[in-house]
Amino acid sequence: MPKATMTMASLPSTGRDSRGGYLSPVLTDYHLHLRTDEVGKAAEAFTQENVDRYLAAAEEQGIAELGVSEHVYRFADALEIWQHPYWRDQAVDDLGAYCEFVRTTPLRLGIEADYLRGAEDRIENLLSAHDFDYVVGSVHYLGEKGAVDDQRYDVWESFSDADSLWSEYFEWQAELVRSGLFDIVSHPDLIKIWGDDRPAPERDPRFHYEPLAEALAESETAVEVSTAGLRKPVGEIYPARALAEMCREAGAEFALSSDAHAPDQVGFGYDEALEFLEDLGVERICVFEGRNRRLEPIGRTGVEADGVADMEAGG
Ligand SMILES: [Zn+2]
Ligand SMILES: [Zn+2]
Repeated sequence: MPKATMTMASLPSTGRDSRGGYLSPVLTDYHLHLRTDEVGKAAEAFTQENVDRYLAAAEEQGIAELGVSEHVYRFADALEIWQHPYWRDQAVDDLGAYCEFVRTTPLRLGIEADYLRGAEDRIENLLSAHDFDYVVGSVHYLGEKGAVDDQRYDVWESFSDADSLWSEYFEWQAELVRSGLFDIVSHPDLIKIWGDDRPAPERDPRFHYEPLAEALAESETAVEVSTAGLRKPVGEIYPARALAEMCREAGAEFALSSDAHAPDQVGFGYDEALEFLEDLGVERICVFEGRNRRLEPIGRTGVEADGVADMEAGG
């Protein structure tokens, strides 16, 4: 067995030390994709060799909690939820086989599932048929109006101005949270992905964030801090600082991920993300198992965190 696998598998899943005392610091990377956008690559993606590449990258960075959340629309079952042309192209993999494979690895089993207005029952049917550790909820499409992050189906063509689009986008995000179907709301302000290539809203963005913050206040859904935005035209973390502050004021907890689509993107930009969380005053992040959430102190595994240890061991 490769070294990386052994190390990951031997980590205590509770995050407690051998004495059952304080929680040791942890970093997560839950929003990962093993498979690229190329159709028919499942056989190459879902292999122990590929998983080992991700595990090795995580270990190097002190990321103890690693999980995979493949796009729901890669799987044939997704066509029961929606029949978008892109989904019909992509939906070829076997969801049951994916779940079975991930359970043979030390990875947590997740899925990135799209929220679609009006499809809540169909989404729930699909999700409840599998024993996921967590479900990442995403708004990539505002239904038939188009895609937020795919220029082939560009949602901007359905809106006359940035404010009406931003307003509707964050309404969808609020509905995602209220649906209760998801453990994490991913890339919470994906709408900014194109940066200066698209018009900015004229209103203060905080006006648009408000519905999402209100929904979070009444929900247990965690907010993803995603470094994927650093790799996109916008060049910044999702969510924007002002949105993160509003989420925090609403009482939301945070989940940390890179949205990696390749091993070299695991933990991408985490130094910046950790600074971001520290500036926000966030000291614990969400860890998931069997769709139950717990909070653990933030920190790289293998790095001493004396302050936390002394404080909690003493109490
Ligand atoms: Zn996504
Ligand atoms: Zn993703």
